[in-house]
Amino acid sequence: MPIRVFNTLTKRKEVFEPQEPGVVKMYCCGPTVYDHFHIGNARAFVVFDLVRRYLRYRGYRVTYVQNFTDVDDKIIRRAAEEHMAVQDLAEKYIQAYFEDAAALGIEPADVQPRVTLHMAEIIDMIQSLLDKGFAYRIHEDVYFDTNRDPDYGKLSGQDPAALMAGARVEVDERKRHPLDFALWKGSKPGEVAWDSPWGKGRPGWHIECSAMSRTYLGDTLDIHAGGQDLIFPHHENEIAQSECVTGRPFARYWMHNGYLQWNQVKMSKSLGNVVTVRELRKRVRPEAIRLYLLSAHYRHPLNFSLELLEQADRGLERIESSLRDLGDWLGPDSSLTGVGTEGSGHVPGLEVDEVRRIHEKWTEAMDDDFNTAEALGALYEGVGLANRAIREQDVTRAKAWQGWLSYHARFMGLIADGQKESETEREKIEALIAQRAEARKKRDWAAADRIRDQLSEMGIVLEDTPYGVRWRRRGS
Ligand SMILES: [Zn+2]
Repeated sequence: MPIRVFNTLTKRKEVFEPQEPGVVKMYCCGPTVYDHFHIGNARAFVVFDLVRRYLRYRGYRVTYVQNFTDVDDKIIRRAAEEHMAVQDLAEKYIQAYFEDAAALGIEPADVQPRVTLHMAEIIDMIQSLLDKGFAYRIHEDVYFDTNRDPDYGKLSGQDPAALMAGARVEVDERKRHPLDFALWKGSKPGEVAWDSPWGKGRPGWHIECSAMSRTYLGDTLDIHAGGQDLIFPHHENEIAQSECVTGRPFARYWMHNGYLQWNQVKMSKSLGNVVTVRELRKRVRPEAIRLYLLSAHYRHPLNFSLELLEQADRGLERIESSLRDLGDWLGPDSSLTGVGTEGSGHVPGLEVDEVRRIHEKWTEAMDDDFNTAEALGALYEGVGLANRAIREQDVTRAKAWQGWLSYHARFMGLIADGQKESETEREKIEALIAQRAEARKKRDWAAADRIRDQLSEMGIVLEDTPYGVRWRRRGS
């Protein structure tokens, strides 16, 4: 079965066919690094991380590019408030992004380009728009001329008049038309600035994605992804810029994830109702945050509530507990190699009928516009069947479920890849647990507690079970 993708451009679910067979060029709009990213932003990063994993699993060679907006008005304002250089502030939040993203199981993109390192490409593209008559200069600013682009509005599916009524279009006397947008902004004295043919300044926001995606992926992308709130004006403007320069389609498939809502209101920085992932990680382990973000279809709105996060945590616990029971009975699973890294590899367990049946359900769900809600349903169904295999002491079925479940839990990024755990760290943890057991045997409770605290500081949670002491990571 082919993969089907809902395309915002055509407003239909379509069979996914990249321009070059077997190769996918994918671009996702990344964060503006002036603060920690919030859980609404995280939804896009997690969802498209999984889309990328799935495409790879289906055998595509995927090049995934996600940018960092490391200069813009908000960064400049924030840097001034914090008495920091713009570059230092951006660097701080880029590092913070990588920490939070890694905790959420988001694999780094193949390229994560920064605006400030791509000024030449951006300036070239603006010059090309000027040369072709799609842009105009006013003093040191350059604007895109939306009236010259007959296709303008095709992504958001509205004519320019309706767009103007719907959007908060600022009246700016310098522009010929209210929908025109800045490609280059002349700098005010003292502001961070780059040299250009039009004077010192910096790029407008939209042009960076057009220029950087073209640099790394060429004129036509297979998938352009981002949050629904980027459709207009950001993505509309990207299409306009790119297609007016290249004369070729900019992206074959446009994928947009739905809003995160809090009490029925869209979560957004400008409304001030956001929760950063950094904050949330203090209360909820990151794997549970990831599971929560994947618990609804990516195009649907998702409500933010601690109750739903706790529910996700319990779901994760069900998967983990089943895998622990399987491991305690059967020993560690040896079938795992390179899960989700390249191609589909070998999915373990499929020789057993009931495993294959659930696997087909999982695959159908993912093929159908990456329906993670249903795919997780199949995973939970697998957990139920695995537990039954344990109760019935059926080694063949249990072994098959152990392989299949750990493969898919890792594939979806819900449990850390055991291979990434350093052997020395694991040895250290096990040695401490042995020391604690020794202390308890000698009834030296103080020493035993000290070791437990030490492990806790390392993020290790101990559980005393009938099988002995088990340990797990509290999250990173
Ligand atoms: Zn963008």
